[in-house]
Amino acid sequence: MSAEVIYGKQLAEDLRQEMKSEVSELHTKDIRPKLVVVILGEDPASMSYVKGKQRASEKIGMDSDLIELPVETSERELLDLIEKLNQDHTVHGILVQLPVPDHISDQKIIEAIHPDKDVDGFHPANVGKMMTGQDTFYPCTPYGILVMLKRADIKLEGKHVVIIGRSNLVGKPVGQLLLNENATVTHCHSRTKHLQSHTKQADILIVAAGKPSLISGEDIKEGAVVIDVGVNRVDGKLTGDVDFESAKEVASHITPVPKGVGPMTITMLLHNTIKAAKRIHNQ
Ligand code: NAP
Repeated sequence: MSAEVIYGKQLAEDLRQEMKSEVSELHTKDIRPKLVVVILGEDPASMSYVKGKQRASEKIGMDSDLIELPVETSERELLDLIEKLNQDHTVHGILVQLPVPDHISDQKIIEAIHPDKDVDGFHPANVGKMMTGQDTFYPCTPYGILVMLKRADIKLEGKHVVIIGRSNLVGKPVGQLLLNENATVTHCHSRTKHLQSHTKQADILIVAAGKPSLISGEDIKEGAVVIDVGVNRVDGKLTGDVDFESAKEVASHITPVPKGVGPMTITMLLHNTIKAAKRIHNQ
């Protein structure tokens, strides 16, 4: 058997086309969704992420600003800027590229962004809403995975989902979103014993460990759906956490790296920003 490949890239393009129409519709009502991305320092990988976010916003006709601050910016200065953006009625989504330099607390920054403009979905108020099954901004990568599974017509109810990873960014929220969809969820992590005995039971296996080739075909149940979240650079090449070639012979569906989960992350950020603008304007 060779698995059906779920290309997040294609789905992301389709969704962005739909969003482009939605944004121009909002423009006719004088609503201009706007995302502001703040970055401290010049780390090339972070810079390339934020530039990608800005390009994607512009492509769907959404207003976006990139605020580049020197790495020595103080926590107070950053908090003051966030407060200004919280008060700015033309700004609907605020994203501070994490991690921030060590002299600033990530958590303080996350909590300073107004929950109504928290398009990353990291504010404890939004995390709490997600936990209690309420509508809110969901973190972009987990939400992208949920949308991918739904669009690929993968049934979630009653399915055993095994997630490798328990980070606040990916592992925990994707587990919560799938639990909300009535899946049965198991989390594995670096202290999990006999990893394969868990992965072999998964109807849906989500791998978000950041370890190249952690999972291969022999770790997967025949016919399972495999979502590879990992982004690793090996010998200059992007690769996931799953050995694609062996896994695709066992799985029923599989996401590639690149062109899999990655493009969905920015797409859900755009989605959240449009949602924020609509909410603020009672649409
Ligand atoms: P993270 O914070 O480093 O978390 C990794 C998780 O994997 C931890 O829970 C860790 O366990 C677990 N883990 C590590 N090695 C393991 C092993 N050998 N066996 C079992 N569990 C293991 O990383 P993250 O932020 O969640 O990201 C995970 C991966 O997804 C990274 O490659 C990252 O680049 C990628 N990512 C991709 C996107 C995208 O848009 N495609 C977005 C975000 C992240 P402990 O908790 O015990 O340490």
